[in-house]
Amino acid sequence: MYTCGPTVYQFAHIGNFRAYIFEDVLRRYLKYKGHRVIQVMNITDVDDKTISGSRREGIPLSQYTARYIKAFFDDLDALNIERAEFYPRATEHVDEMVALIKKLIDKGYGYKSEGSIYFDISKFKEYGMLSKVNVSELKPGARVRADEYEKEEARDFALWRAWDEDDGDVFWETDIGKGRPGWHIECSAMSMKYLGEEFDIHTGGIDNIFPHHENEIAQSRAATGKGFVRYWLHCEHLLADGRKMSKSLGNYYTLRDLLDKGYDPRAIRYLLMFAHYKAPINFTEEGLKAAQNTVLSLIDFLDRLQEAKDDIGNTKYNEGLHEKALSTAREFEEYMDDDLDMPRAMAVVHDLARETNRAIENGDASSENLEEIYDLLMRLDSVLGFLKHERERLTADDVRLMEEREHARKRGDYAAADSIRTQLLQRGIILEDTPQGVRWRRIRPVTHQ
Ligand SMILES: [Zn+2]
Repeated sequence: MYTCGPTVYQFAHIGNFRAYIFEDVLRRYLKYKGHRVIQVMNITDVDDKTISGSRREGIPLSQYTARYIKAFFDDLDALNIERAEFYPRATEHVDEMVALIKKLIDKGYGYKSEGSIYFDISKFKEYGMLSKVNVSELKPGARVRADEYEKEEARDFALWRAWDEDDGDVFWETDIGKGRPGWHIECSAMSMKYLGEEFDIHTGGIDNIFPHHENEIAQSRAATGKGFVRYWLHCEHLLADGRKMSKSLGNYYTLRDLLDKGYDPRAIRYLLMFAHYKAPINFTEEGLKAAQNTVLSLIDFLDRLQEAKDDIGNTKYNEGLHEKALSTAREFEEYMDDDLDMPRAMAVVHDLARETNRAIENGDASSENLEEIYDLLMRLDSVLGFLKHERERLTADDVRLMEEREHARKRGDYAAADSIRTQLLQRGIILEDTPQGVRWRRIRPVTHQ
């Protein structure tokens, strides 16, 4: 699976994370179904925006992008997005891109103009197969140098961009000239390097369809004569307050903005994934608050299951509730199999929680029932990723305190251990000593009104 990754010139906004979370759910669900997943996500660390950012600050490109690469991985962790197997960087794969461009020139698809190299789309008869862009009225030889442009401007695009003054000291001296690669060739070269000339799944946001993915298809199929990608999946936009997210409208949110306001990252994850990936989401803080309540009530439900299953006594096994657990697992899978129908898959989870709560209140659930439902939810959470999210939610200080307490206990200094436990409690963390070791959970955080 190849997923178009970030251009590391600023902190990603939550619209970007909608795509990464959708891809994470896809990846997790494929694994849940027993597939082996190899995921590649590129990091675009050279383009117009990264170069102009680094020049503005007067620092080397690599130093400039390092800041945003680190931030990107921190944000992935906060949102409990599983790591891909490979994160190739554009600047480290220029050789592969040059080799691909030479192949395209040899086969008659690439031509030189003023030192740059362009792809001749009139030579590639399938151009437009993905985006349905109409190329019948194209003027031959009309070219575009920029990486991004509109459908109406479909034309020959840059594979290699000759150095100019705006590039400063960012360039590569190669047999095809002095310059740097275009954005599209990056993804063709790196996807095929790690996944082969044909692979299963390529994803992105719908704004990647044209020109980026159309151009990737043209480059890759023209170079190899093979099919390139078997399935394309694109997720819809995230709107904010009904409009396209933009800094000037003030409806632009990075993950950091929302965490600073006190929102729980699990709520942000939930909000960005619970709609169908092909439906637009309109982000509002009201919606996020509602998502946070939903997530916290499910987590409370899990805690309740854990507590109740130990002290529920000798209640009789409830066959109806057992059937409900089985049908929940079956339907969850049925809906996810149907093009990742997340709204319906989530609905069966909520329904199970309601029915189980009712059974607990009526004294009509045995500890075996609750154990079974708890295990089921843990299994489903290998796909959902917002119920158990413990490791990432501890700060380095929390971890250090927990380790210190362990040491104190081991040397028999129970007074010190207790005082650390109190400190952790003040930080919102409850410790529980179990035969399997120390467990911890968070006190329900205060929600913002
Ligand atoms: Zn890409």
